[in-house]
Amino acid sequence: CGIVGYIGNGNTINILLDSLECLEYRGYDSAGIALVSNDSLRVIKSHGRILNLKDKVPITLNATAGIGHTRWATHGKPSDYNAHPHKDCTGNFAVVHNGIIENYQSLKDGLIAQGHKFSSETDTEVIAHLLEKNYAGSVVQALLDTVRELEGSYAIAIVSNHAPGKVFAAKKDSPIVIGLGDGQYFLASDVTAFLKYTKKAIFMEDGDIVIMSGEGIEVIDFNGRPVRREARIIDWEL
Ligand code: GLU
Repeated sequence: CGIVGYIGNGNTINILLDSLECLEYRGYDSAGIALVSNDSLRVIKSHGRILNLKDKVPITLNATAGIGHTRWATHGKPSDYNAHPHKDCTGNFAVVHNGIIENYQSLKDGLIAQGHKFSSETDTEVIAHLLEKNYAGSVVQALLDTVRELEGSYAIAIVSNHAPGKVFAAKKDSPIVIGLGDGQYFLASDVTAFLKYTKKAIFMEDGDIVIMSGEGIEVIDFNGRPVRREARIIDWEL
């Protein structure tokens, strides 16, 4: 129902949780975050309110990048195990998703036949397993190969152990906005999630893939070609 992402020198956990709270108005039944640092990829998620999620997050934890999700269940009942982010079998990718993967059942059947083990009833989990299947040294290439297999609507954000200093995203028929801060970058379903940190935003378009790192933003299309997107200043009053 809402996705967020962050990379930069701020407090990743606080910023992700704060951004998720700004998206609360969209309604949700569960929430979760994934945090990546040089030596780990951790997922913390919970059925129910963001308060429940906060209770589960160790205060001492920090990370260079992360993603978060508030879920409005379409496939699989609201529960801890169906909450996003979803990981693949190796635990090297964590994915949050807003939308519906229409062909998830046939993708899931194929992945199971190849030995993939699923731990949720969601349509979203196929994305994590497809990334694992398609990974051959480049997360961007794995994502390009994965979106080619997906049908339906999606705003996806990904963190991976293979590229701990980056957040990846792809958009088709669900919204994603990127926030450009000073040495920090935000991603969200809606600008209200990061407006208190920056008013400079890029609205992603269908068929865009974004690679966020500490140094900046790169946008490419689903064929891997560079795309230019202008930043806008959001001058609403909160
Ligand atoms: N279809 C996904 C699920 O049911 C995502 C729902 C959403 O957009 O929150 O888990």
